[in-house]
Amino acid sequence: MKIGQHAALSDTGRKRLRNEDAMVISPPLFAVADGMGGARGGQLAAQMTASVFSGETSSVALDGPTRLRALVTEANRQIFAQAQRDPSLGGMGTTITAAILEDEHLAIVQVGDSRAYRLRDGVLEQLTDDHSLVAELVRAGRLTPEEAALHPQRAVITRALGTDPTVAADVIAVDARPGDLLLLCSDGLTTMVDDAALSRALLESENAQTAARALVRAANQAGGDDNVTVVVFEVVEDSWSDGEAEIASAPDEDTLSSLDPVPLLFGEGESGATTQRLPEASIGSGRGSPRRSIVPLLLAALALAVAGIVVVGAVWGSQRAYFVGADEDGYIAVYQGIPWDVTDGIPLYRKVHVSPLRAPQLSAEERERLLDHDLVREDEARRRVVQYERLVEVP
Ligand code: MN
Repeated sequence: MKIGQHAALSDTGRKRLRNEDAMVISPPLFAVADGMGGARGGQLAAQMTASVFSGETSSVALDGPTRLRALVTEANRQIFAQAQRDPSLGGMGTTITAAILEDEHLAIVQVGDSRAYRLRDGVLEQLTDDHSLVAELVRAGRLTPEEAALHPQRAVITRALGTDPTVAADVIAVDARPGDLLLLCSDGLTTMVDDAALSRALLESENAQTAARALVRAANQAGGDDNVTVVVFEVVEDSWSDGEAEIASAPDEDTLSSLDPVPLLFGEGESGATTQRLPEASIGSGRGSPRRSIVPLLLAALALAVAGIVVVGAVWGSQRAYFVGADEDGYIAVYQGIPWDVTDGIPLYRKVHVSPLRAPQLSAEERERLLDHDLVREDEARRRVVQYERLVEVP
């Protein structure tokens, strides 16, 4: 088995000022990294990871899973060391989802909430588990996937590269067959576009390049809340693509004109390695036609239901309702109000206390207990947080 056509595309989206995603196109190795933390820390962490995954050659002789583990360990070591040297980069980290094809197998490494999908025989399957608060709550049966999609803490990840001296990565190996289409992507795609729409976009696209463009366009048309990065590659029989060295034609300007300027990489076969460094900020909104936000019917119904709950909750007294959650940087916090956004980022809560305790310092079980979003009185919410601060060493 070898890599057939492949394409990759990264876009700032419509809301963010900078692109903190990075990607690696180095057949038979591909990766997506989504940085987090600090003014420039997120971007740096993702780029450091991309250069480790694209530049490292001493581990090439290792089998896929062993090599991916070695790369993750090395990237983690470099980011953590850099953050120790420069306090302004403290807490920086990144997700990593990387895949390497070897013979009949695809090895995948996963930390955080970027994802790998495989489209086979018309069926899309998510190959990775998200390391995020909401994914844990869904797996524990505390949230439905629909609730998770609207959850205010949906962006909080429970594992990252570079935030701690060691990192626990999931490494899996799946079989690969000719015709398999693989998608690696950052959460800027999957929080905006549901799996059914991902599947449709892949099935309806003629090739990897048009698929990558369709996916980024879908994320932006749904609002483009976050940076969006997609890597698409095809698995083919070894003998088939010999001699097919043709490079696909340049992107069609007409179809791209509705998007922000994007770096686009594509190719055919295993003809060379590229690491994509993402450009500095380009402001992704406010140009051209007014921003559209297409709210699917289900979301609209859910939003109405939430609005109903909000009215009842407000009457009951949002002044008296508090809950424990985690803020955008992963710190445990006490919130006043109700743990929901009304569809497009209108929060019904405000942060009243931030603990020095970070969500990843707790075990999955502890997180599930502490971050259950029970509405309680303020003193009870604070008591619960203090109780865990005592259990866990807080720096
Ligand atoms: Mn993201």
